[in-house]
Amino acid sequence: MLDLDKRSITYLTGVGPKKAEVLKTEANISSFEDLLNYFPYKYMDRSRFYKVAEVNGSMPYIQLKGRILSFETAGEGRSKRLIARFTDNTGVIELVWFQSISYVKEKFSIGKEYIVFGKPTEFGQTCNIVHPDIDLIEQAGQVAGGLTPYYSTTEKMKKSFLNSRAIQNLQYALLNLLKWELPETLSSDVLEKTKLVSRTEAIKNIHFPESADKLKKAQLRLKFEELFFIQLNILQTASYRKQKLKGLVFSTVGDAFNTFYKAYLPFELTDAQKRVMREIRADMGSGRQMNRLLQGDVGSGKTLVALLSMLLAIDNKYQACMMAPTEILANQHYVTVMNFLGDMNIRVALLTGSTKKKERNKLLPAIAAGEIDLVIGTHALIEDTVLFSSLGLAIIDEQHRFGVEQRAQLWKKNTTIPHVLVMTATPIPRTLAMTLYGDLDVSVIDQLPPGRKPILTLHRYDNKKKELYSFLRKEIRLGRQVYVVYPLIEGSEKLDYKNLEDGFEVFKDVFSEYNVCMVHGRMKASEKEKEMQKFISGEAQILMATTVIEVGVNVPNASVMVIESAERFGLSQLHQLRGRVGRGAEQSYCILVSSYKLSNETRKRLEIMVQTTNGFEIAEADLRLRGHGDLEGTRQSGMGIDLKIANLASDGQILQYARDVAQQMLDEDPTLSLPLHQSLKEHIQNLFSRKINWGMIS
Ligand code: ADP
Ligand code: MG
Repeated sequence: MLDLDKRSITYLTGVGPKKAEVLKTEANISSFEDLLNYFPYKYMDRSRFYKVAEVNGSMPYIQLKGRILSFETAGEGRSKRLIARFTDNTGVIELVWFQSISYVKEKFSIGKEYIVFGKPTEFGQTCNIVHPDIDLIEQAGQVAGGLTPYYSTTEKMKKSFLNSRAIQNLQYALLNLLKWELPETLSSDVLEKTKLVSRTEAIKNIHFPESADKLKKAQLRLKFEELFFIQLNILQTASYRKQKLKGLVFSTVGDAFNTFYKAYLPFELTDAQKRVMREIRADMGSGRQMNRLLQGDVGSGKTLVALLSMLLAIDNKYQACMMAPTEILANQHYVTVMNFLGDMNIRVALLTGSTKKKERNKLLPAIAAGEIDLVIGTHALIEDTVLFSSLGLAIIDEQHRFGVEQRAQLWKKNTTIPHVLVMTATPIPRTLAMTLYGDLDVSVIDQLPPGRKPILTLHRYDNKKKELYSFLRKEIRLGRQVYVVYPLIEGSEKLDYKNLEDGFEVFKDVFSEYNVCMVHGRMKASEKEKEMQKFISGEAQILMATTVIEVGVNVPNASVMVIESAERFGLSQLHQLRGRVGRGAEQSYCILVSSYKLSNETRKRLEIMVQTTNGFEIAEADLRLRGHGDLEGTRQSGMGIDLKIANLASDGQILQYARDVAQQMLDEDPTLSLPLHQSLKEHIQNLFSRKINWGMIS
């Protein structure tokens, strides 16, 4: 059988070097296998035509038949667009293009009959379809009725004549070449147990559905397969680690922990913190290496749990380190830890990118000699020059900003892998956690320290600035402090900074009797630090910032978080930002300021924020609204769960089933060495070869 993964797409008739290049760069398709796995994102029943007169904005994708009456261009710069008036004699609808304007104008003519396909949006009195698919009637006629697949394509692909239809043609040509017969990837025992259709049957029907029922079966099979291999890989790694990797045994609870707990801890632990500490202690004493994910909403007291765990390491004659994603946060952890520890005899060091060379030269040998107990820092900690004498516990705060590889770097710092505690304040939906961190044990702090008042969240339009200012003034008069945050989006940083700077001028003017400070990512660390300090000390009443303050900043006296252009933030980011307030005893507020014109999805996002402060609910909603690919955590994690067909928001049951089947298989055949499972093993190696095998790192 052909090795489809190695067979270049250029072997397919109709794919020359130029198209191959576009397929590669635009759709990541370079082999036969890649093409077969390029699944349609939707199917349309194209036997049905709508009338223009019956179209409204709430309809999903629709198909119309008619003629273009006229073309005109409107707008300037980014909003420049081509508008075609389109009619079928029952009414007129606008077709709109923001890109490829001259191409579209050239390709389509006034008066000819076309079939138009797309999602209608209501726009004032009229409806329009942005970037519709258009075909000549006679072309469209070639597409058999029934379920027509739609493949996502980019403008570049379309310009190279690789539209959805062309992709479908390529699929057809390829399947023909392969005589409609594909190698099976699942083992026979799995197929038997699950009663799923064969890979051949699935791929055939995913691209050329014979019926709605067969399509469904094909989707189920492919989703299962995708999730199954991920789970099999994760579970196998986890079980390998559990069996093979020795962990450092922290058997003692000694002076450091006990003294701190009895004499220094300023408050009682919450029940959730106590439970999590028990879980961590059990792990670290078990003889197995701990790999634990600690989830807890913002403000739930994870830092304290981290500190207590580090004290346990010290009691067992090991060093511990804690790594944070930003300097501000590392500094703050350092200050927090120092405050907690007071005059206890524990040697703590701070190591970040801006640690002075002289200081570094002193610190590094001290860490290597074991003269430092706790090292708190940023990425600087994972540099090769940082050597520990006996690293026993590595804590990583705000997990989602660190990639797996960076984490692995930390693990190399001892001959025996240190215990690892990963902390995240971005609650992760269960399905996502199972996929991203499926091999980590999970602890959850599901309780906030007592006495917190829930934050009140309000949504206000940006034409109501006066009311906003007077509200802020009222709060400041009561002695509170205010954050004002501006978005910083990749690609438009220049504009974003300008917005922040303009806003800063306005606030300085409006609140001239107070001190306003500003922090953003373009400032030097020292300057940032100085400005932050003004706010932390209370000298400044208002802190204006980009999202650099997103994680970790802790100023309990700050009671208002104003988020400008809130529509431009993702849910988890909004939630993180909101978590900066509500840390003191006062009633806190989060004010989401947006423009009046909002898309449905954005409006939903803001509504969810107003309705709930529960991070887990928000995470689930985020997953539903945006899909896993876009979720903050996954994009930044570098783990790239690049799912081609399964959807973590809606396929939770399939995921659980896939995990169960994988687990059962490993229970019977832990190393997949039965001949029956040989091909699975190879397939996993192929699929995940580029990723780090966590279990093997030592
Ligand atoms: P997280 O890192 O989970 O967002 P922090 O560790 O920064 O939260 O804790 C938030 C605040 O709550 C800190 O000021 C911390 O001192 C305080 N805190 C933590 N645990 C408790 C507790 N058990 N009782 C009262 N306050 C607590
Ligand atoms: Mg924290």
